[in-house]
This record gives sequence, C-alpha cells and structure tokens, in this order.
Amino acid sequence: MNTNMLINGIQVQGAADTFEVLNPANEQVIATVASASVEQVNQAIQAAAQAFKTWQFISDEEINTIFTKIVADIRHEQSEIARLITLEQGKPLALAQFEVEAGANWIEYILSLNIPVETIDDPSGKTIQVFNRPLGVIASITPWNWPFMIVIWHLFPALKAKNCIVNKPSEYTPLSTIKLIEIMNRHLPQGVCNIVLGQGGVGQALSEHPDVAKVTFTGSTRTGQSILSHSVASLKGVVLELGGNDIGIVLNDVDVNEIAPRIFGSAFLNMGQTCAALKRLYVHEDVYDQLTQKLAELADAQVVGDGLDENTTFGPIQNRMQYQKVKSLIDDAVAQGGEIITQQNQETEKGYYIRPTLVTNVNAGIALVDEEQFGPVLPIVKFSQVEDAIYAANHTSFGLGGSVWSKDLEQAQQISSRLETGTVWINSHSDLSPAAPFGGWKLSGLGYSFGLSGLLLFTKKQAIHITK
Ligand code: NDP
Repeated sequence: MNTNMLINGIQVQGAADTFEVLNPANEQVIATVASASVEQVNQAIQAAAQAFKTWQFISDEEINTIFTKIVADIRHEQSEIARLITLEQGKPLALAQFEVEAGANWIEYILSLNIPVETIDDPSGKTIQVFNRPLGVIASITPWNWPFMIVIWHLFPALKAKNCIVNKPSEYTPLSTIKLIEIMNRHLPQGVCNIVLGQGGVGQALSEHPDVAKVTFTGSTRTGQSILSHSVASLKGVVLELGGNDIGIVLNDVDVNEIAPRIFGSAFLNMGQTCAALKRLYVHEDVYDQLTQKLAELADAQVVGDGLDENTTFGPIQNRMQYQKVKSLIDDAVAQGGEIITQQNQETEKGYYIRPTLVTNVNAGIALVDEEQFGPVLPIVKFSQVEDAIYAANHTSFGLGGSVWSKDLEQAQQISSRLETGTVWINSHSDLSPAAPFGGWKLSGLGYSFGLSGLLLFTKKQAIHITK
C-alpha cells in the first residue's frame, strides 16, 4: 500500500512520527503512515510556489487535455480506488464505486467551465478588461467522510483557475487521496499538486504558511474558525465548508410511499456522515405515523456490515471518535424521553457499527435535535403549524441546507425563500450539483464552491484600463 507523500513530483516518506490507518469495519491496521516534518511541509509549499511560475500561464486547452487524461486513469483504476475507499472509510463498495465515478464526472464538468474576462466600455472612452487571475499556492485540507470526492472538489477548481496546490488529507483516510494525487502527478508538471500527510500540527503548519495564498477546508466549525483566525496575519483568503444541521420539512400533502425512500437515502447517505445530509426531520401530524413507519421499515431492511461484503448495504461509522459521539447523542435522547423505533444493534466485538436509528418523541432543546450528529441517527419531530417548523429551521447557528417536501410547489417555494440556508431542495435533499453554488450561511461556512463561483474563489481580479 502506497503511503508516500508527493512533493515536487517525487514520492517521499514523511520524516516525523508515524500513525496508523484503521479499517473501521474491524479496527485492523491497514497502513502505517509517516507524518511530514515541518521542513517537508515547507518544501511542498516551495515546490508549489516554484511550479506556479509557469503553471499560471498554461493554456486552457493544455489544462483540459491533462484533466481528460486524469479522468481516463481514474476510470481505468476505479475498482482499485473504490476498494481503497471502502477499506479506509468503511462505506459499502457500491457507494465507493459511485464516489469514484461521480468524482470523475465532476472533473469533466469543471473542465467544461471557462473563466470569464469582462470588458467594460468606460464612459470616458477607454476600455477596461477585467481578468480573474490565479492566486498562487492553495492549501487544501480534506476530511474523512468522502475522502475521494471532496479532494476533487478542492483541487480541480483551484487547478483549473491555474493555481498550484498542497493537500493534506485526514489522518483517518489518506490512502485514496494518495492514490488520486499519484494519478494526477502522472500528467501534471512537477510541483503543481503536492500532498503532505500527518496527524496533529501538519494542517496548521500548512495553513499558516505565509506563502499560502488561500486555504480551503472541509470539516468541523471549530477547526474552520481556528483556520480563519490564523489567516489574519497574512490576510490570506479562506474557503470553509463546515457543519450543518439540515432540516427536512414534510407537509401534509405528500405521497409517503414516494418520498420515504428519498428521505431515508438523504438522511442516511454515507451512514449519515455527509455535511449536506438531512439531519432533523419535521413532519406534519397528518402524515407523521405513516411516514415514521415507512422509514422504520426502510431502516430495518438495511444489511449492516463490512463494506467489502457484497450483501452489505450499510457500513460502519468511520472512526471511534465519531462512533462514540453518535452513541452518546442517542443515549442522551433516550434519557430525555426519546423513543427508538428501529431495530437495535447486536454488539460486535470490533468495528464501529450503529444500525440506522430513528428517534421519535423528541423536540428542540435536546442535543440530538439541536446539534449535528454526523452519523446514522435521525430525530423525527411532529408539527401541526408550518410556522413552527420554519421557526425551528432557522433557530440554529448552522445554515448549510434544508428541504421542503410537498406536492404544492408554490407553497414549497414560498417556505424555501424563508429558510436561512445556502441551499434548499424541494422534494429531495443532499443531491448536489457541480453547476450550482454550494456554501453555508452562519456557522456553516464561508464561500460558495461548485459552478463558476467555485472557480472564481481561487482567483483575484485585475482590471486593465486601455486608453488608445
Ligand atoms: P476536524 O474538522 O477537526 O479537521 C481535522 C483536520 O484539520 C486534520 O487534517 C487536521 O490536521 C486539520 N487541522 C486541525 N487544526 C488545524 C488548523 N488550525 N489549521 C489547519 N488544519 C488544521 O475534523 P475531525 O476529523 O476531528 O472531525 C471533527 C468533527 O468534524 C466531526 O465530529 C464531524 O462532526 C465534523 N466533520 C465534518 C465534515 C464535513 O464534511 N463538514 C467532515 C468531517 C468531519 P492535523 O491533524 O495535521 O492538525
């Protein structure tokens, strides 16, 4: 298993302490990885800065040719990459295969975008051309929930905008990112895309470096705030994609059989470990019993187990910290009167397994409803007045996404316009599009990734005034 970093196109072992990567299905060690020393982090940044001197002038056609070759290699090695994802992350193999294919499609979409040049005819008679220039070196810090997909979200818009990169993947799931960056380096000039590995301190050394122009981070709000506070000294830009506590509001006119699988799929996507998953479900009292029963049937039908087992439909949680966090949220909800309406776990000796769990008889004011669970448990709250659900939707410090479920699209759109979130879905949830801006309001983030706005995050403006 490759555990090397890639700095300036050369594979190197980390020079600092080692850490272990575990398979969450059985807690066995699948790799021992050496962390980067601070000196190696600095070397990676220097390599990116050096590469930027020429990469910033590469033509769009050349970039597109390189991206096309990378996509072809990803597709060619899809099975191997998917297996790595399942081994380190835990998700069922079919979902890992989806992650790889969706990642390849995402790159193809980015490839189709063009960075605009605006021409302004000034009233004085001169012409002004406004260019979107690259920033320089981008530091990317990526999480463990969708390790292959999210690194693609970070790297390819930045590269397409002609920046160079140093990535630091989560210490829990570095292996599929190592593989991706190895593939990318077959086709990119040396130093354009580097990877450093580590646990504790490497991310900070990278993000605080004065030669880094912008940091892009996906993870917890707490760490995002820390990165932002450390960006002040060098006035570097920061893109933060943080937590959420997305509400789903179900009105009384829905067809329960039609929407239940979609609600289940979005709440438990990737075992609930998805920033834009549906995390609290508010259901009108007229359809509450029918919907909770249907959702419980779907949950109880899941086959929980090792993602590499072909019968498995529902894998383990990715790491012990998250497993314990989710368990304690469930225990706390039950202690406060919550009722679990789904089958319970049979304890296993090893592996971070929690069956998809639905909790009823809960309300705002308990942690399971108020906080982000980021795992396979969904609180379901009954309402009779839609105003109460809208109040609950907005009465939170998060503002990532939300959804409204109804046949009455006009009413659903009206409610959507009142939700304080960067994204609202009507009759779906968490189905992200590479073409639409995606970002959080309030403590859910800073900056809108995806689409053209996602590319422009990695640019700065230069206005050229031309007088004849
Ligand atoms: P964190 O959000 O704390 O991120 C950890 C990563 O950030 C590591 O790579 C770490 O590198 C790096 N890091 C830590 N401090 C800094 C800093 N000051 N500057 C730059 N990089 C830094 O993730 P955890 O894995 O600890 O998960 C915590 C919670 O985050 C979870 O419980 C979950 O709720 C949420 N989460 C949200 C995700 C999302 O998609 N929004 C994804 C994953 C988790 P180093 O070890 O080198 O310091």
